[in-house]
Amino acid sequence: MSKLIYLDNAATTAVYPEVLESMKPYFTEYYGNPSSIYGFAAKSKKAIEDSRSTIAGFLGAKPNEIYFTGGGSESDNWALKAVAEAYQGKGNHIITSKIEHHAILHTCEYLEKRGFEITYVDVDEDGVIKLDELEKAIRPTTILISVMFANNEIGTIQPIKEIGKIAKEHNILFHTDAVQAYGHVPINVEELNIDMLSASGHKINGPKGIGLLYIKNSVKIGSFIHGGAQERSRRAGTQNVPGIVGFAKATELAAATMESRSAYETKLRDYLIDQVLSKVKYAKLNGHKTKRLPNNVNIGFEFIEGESMLILLDQAGVCASSGSACTSGSLDPSHVLLAIGVPHEKAHGSLRMTLSEKNTKEEIDFVVEQIAGNVERLRSMSPLYEDFVKKQEKK
Ligand SMILES: *Cc1c(COP(=O)(O)O)cnc(C)c1O
Repeated sequence: MSKLIYLDNAATTAVYPEVLESMKPYFTEYYGNPSSIYGFAAKSKKAIEDSRSTIAGFLGAKPNEIYFTGGGSESDNWALKAVAEAYQGKGNHIITSKIEHHAILHTCEYLEKRGFEITYVDVDEDGVIKLDELEKAIRPTTILISVMFANNEIGTIQPIKEIGKIAKEHNILFHTDAVQAYGHVPINVEELNIDMLSASGHKINGPKGIGLLYIKNSVKIGSFIHGGAQERSRRAGTQNVPGIVGFAKATELAAATMESRSAYETKLRDYLIDQVLSKVKYAKLNGHKTKRLPNNVNIGFEFIEGESMLILLDQAGVCASSGSACTSGSLDPSHVLLAIGVPHEKAHGSLRMTLSEKNTKEEIDFVVEQIAGNVERLRSMSPLYEDFVKKQEKK
């Protein structure tokens, strides 16, 4: 098979042709600055406001509660830093989880250095946040709870409604990093009691470098980028008009296909999981079996290095990812896998495959065959595995 098999949709996605087409006129034809006065620029301005309405409708928000940013990381940074600054008169305590994206965790570390106190709440072995611990962590000085909607490594979906309810009962703001959930599972910010939400274009077949922060009108936080009056003066800078248009188009498509796409992906996901677990010994699914993103598969293999598996898969034209952060230059195992109780030595042997509706059963069959062969090959070179098998035989 010489065709590329792309199973890394949690990292980024292809821009859909319809999305690209929707963007094109705003590069070449309607290039006016949306802040300019003349009629020509009104085209760009209208495109932004229409996009804002589309996205607000999708989230159950008001259009003036949607702020366009440069991506998910920026939205996460803005939410945390701005709440910390605006609410420091009330307190200096923030609650988050141990399995957040680094855009949240590293921002929390930054805030800790500046005198804020952060509680990192535990998750259970499936990656679901412990609600009793979350509630116990609340102090009179707690100003924010930030818990991701769905995890980018293991796909676990959090009990967002319950967290929103707890936050509301205690009069604490609730932010969620919904970058992985947006467009994959239904989200209504009113019903879920969400005060702030981050999403990103390139994770849902939209362009890179565009994101949003939903800020409920009752939340009083400051600007992130100072300058012009764009985005109600809260995020200055000439808007990325084509990016915004593409993000809205991708949102529209995601909304229209969500049900059928998620049904298809869930079937393919469970097929892939079943096939791998039945063909490979000493393999285990990471994350919750059902409370998980329709397209996420994360499997831990004992006695292999995830990195070696990725290299072998790459040679067969398969793009996947490993649970460990080795690829980013660090040898530390994934904080998410450690948080769900995967022992240090096993946390290096995981493989994440995130599907799209473009993937087929034939592709999955090919990948399963590759994985089974690669595991055998890698284990045959592992002295640890040899010892393990000898011990098993003695029993
Ligand atoms: C990808 C991702 C981000 C970062 O989004 P960018 O648009 O790439 O900055 C943040 N949080 C989660 C959960 C993600 O998966």
